[in-house]
Amino acid sequence: MHWSLSSSTTLLLTTAAIIASANEEADVSSSSSSTSSYLAVESPVWLANIKTPYDNARSLALSEEDIMVRPLDQVKNLHLSNYPSPLKAPPVDDPEVQAVIEQIDWSKVPKAPIRKATVDGELKIEETKENDPYCWWSSSLCSNPKVDYIPEDISYCPQAGDWGLNYDDGPYRVWSEDEDEKQWEEPRLYNFLVEHGKVKSTLFYIGSNVVTFPEAAQRAFSDGHTICSHTWSHPYMTTLTNEQVVSELYWTQKAMKEVVGVTPKCWRPPYGDIDDRVRAIAWLMGMRTILWDRDSNDWGLAAQSISADTVNNYFQDWIDQRVANKDNDHGHIPLQHESSNHTIMLTEKWLPELQKHFNVVSIHQCLGDTSPYWEDGPWNNMNTNDNPASSVDRHISENAPSGENQPSTEQNSGDNNANIEFNDPGNGNSLPNSRIAMGTNNKTLSKDHKKMPGTVSSNASSLLPSSHPNLLLLDSTLLLSTFFAFVLFA
Ligand SMILES: [Zn+2]
Repeated sequence: MHWSLSSSTTLLLTTAAIIASANEEADVSSSSSSTSSYLAVESPVWLANIKTPYDNARSLALSEEDIMVRPLDQVKNLHLSNYPSPLKAPPVDDPEVQAVIEQIDWSKVPKAPIRKATVDGELKIEETKENDPYCWWSSSLCSNPKVDYIPEDISYCPQAGDWGLNYDDGPYRVWSEDEDEKQWEEPRLYNFLVEHGKVKSTLFYIGSNVVTFPEAAQRAFSDGHTICSHTWSHPYMTTLTNEQVVSELYWTQKAMKEVVGVTPKCWRPPYGDIDDRVRAIAWLMGMRTILWDRDSNDWGLAAQSISADTVNNYFQDWIDQRVANKDNDHGHIPLQHESSNHTIMLTEKWLPELQKHFNVVSIHQCLGDTSPYWEDGPWNNMNTNDNPASSVDRHISENAPSGENQPSTEQNSGDNNANIEFNDPGNGNSLPNSRIAMGTNNKTLSKDHKKMPGTVSSNASSLLPSSHPNLLLLDSTLLLSTFFAFVLFA
């Protein structure tokens, strides 16, 4: 009996070992050249009970032949109450946020310092590339985490010639009845994309904009665009406490789930402001970071911090490099916005040109990622060449929270109005959610905080190409510093 049991056990263990070994090999073979084993994450459980507009998350998506130029549909059966005030720092003491905080394994969140902002909301960048223990992009452009269980940020398309079309800050609504301005809001861009080959894009949506313009979000999803998170109120994320980071991400996830019916696995930090602390929280909440490698600086057109000639020259230069056969390392992910008449105009001018020289697809198409939402299944469908997106291994998740590195409360907003629709949270502190700021290059912009997001500047710049091509400048600090001036306040 003893021997029999032992033999069975041995056989069982051997079989298990073989299976485990096979699984390990499968994991390795599906990994990129980066061989890190990433911390497994799962579908965000805190979204499980959120009512969605459709039983099947994909049922809102149209077949290709049914996608056409059209006005927005009215939304039905949506009751978007109980959200924080749009574009303001959302509360952290709401029970829903606290429930998420309890789910996160804080032992896996590096204890990077909370970064400082000035009274003007400017990000204070203190570290240099030589001293960057937490991979703070704003300081060093670091995108490869110092901890090995968080994947590298995605910044480009793996295949040379691919152009990973994407837009930040939508859905774009004009809070004005002025017809000259109103004409630029969605679905203008989405219709334009339909007219140009039904081209797909990846859309980094601000949660506040999703709940204030749900019909546009549903339209984009139905047209086959991929939706990712871009936070609730567009702050510098590294200036937030752990709890505030969770709150920014949570309300945006909830908005997308409730409006569109899906939970994105992707996000982009506003201004690219991310470090390993923020990166880890986003990963633990089910999202991988996507940045860019071609900064159009288009946001600066409305703010008049950059000339149309300069922006046009960026695009011309990118095309020229490709045409001259000098752009063969990999494809690109641009940084563009759907947040003003200027940026929409820019797409209308340059997309047809880009399509002549690049394979213009969404970021997710260029990554070969057919599973951008948790409703499609876990991460293991991401399997593309050497791209960072392929390097997501699945390992057993350890969900036991430890007492280590509990979320800080020192900057809590202290409000409790999360369940009042669009009420001002009235938090007395000056959370850096309303960026005007200048960054290290000391560029300054108007500090008019009065207008609602999406309001356009009245004097659109000329987007005629210039005959003086400029050098391509990846002016990230400029982006970091001034973008929000026109998104919220220009
Ligand atoms: Zn943005």
